[in-house]
Amino acid sequence: METSNIKNYLTEWRRSAIIIPIRCFSCGKLIAHVYKPYLELLEKGEPSEKAFKELGIERFCCKRMIVN
Ligand SMILES: [Zn+2]
Repeated sequence: METSNIKNYLTEWRRSAIIIPIRCFSCGKLIAHVYKPYLELLEKGEPSEKAFKELGIERFCCKRMIVN
C-alpha cells in the first residue's frame, strides 16, 4: 500500500469508528448496545428518563456516557 492510501484508509477508519465507548468509564457497565435503541425511543417521543429505565440504565454515570 502506498503512503497516501494508508492515510486515506486511516481517515476513513476514524470517520466510521464508533463514537460511543463500549463501557461506562465509571462503573464498567456495557452501554454500546443501548445507544441505538435509546435514540430510537427518543425518536418515538419517549422522555429520556423513561428510555433509560426501559433499557436498564439506572446509574447517572452511564446516562452521562450515552447522552454525551
Ligand atoms: Zn456507569
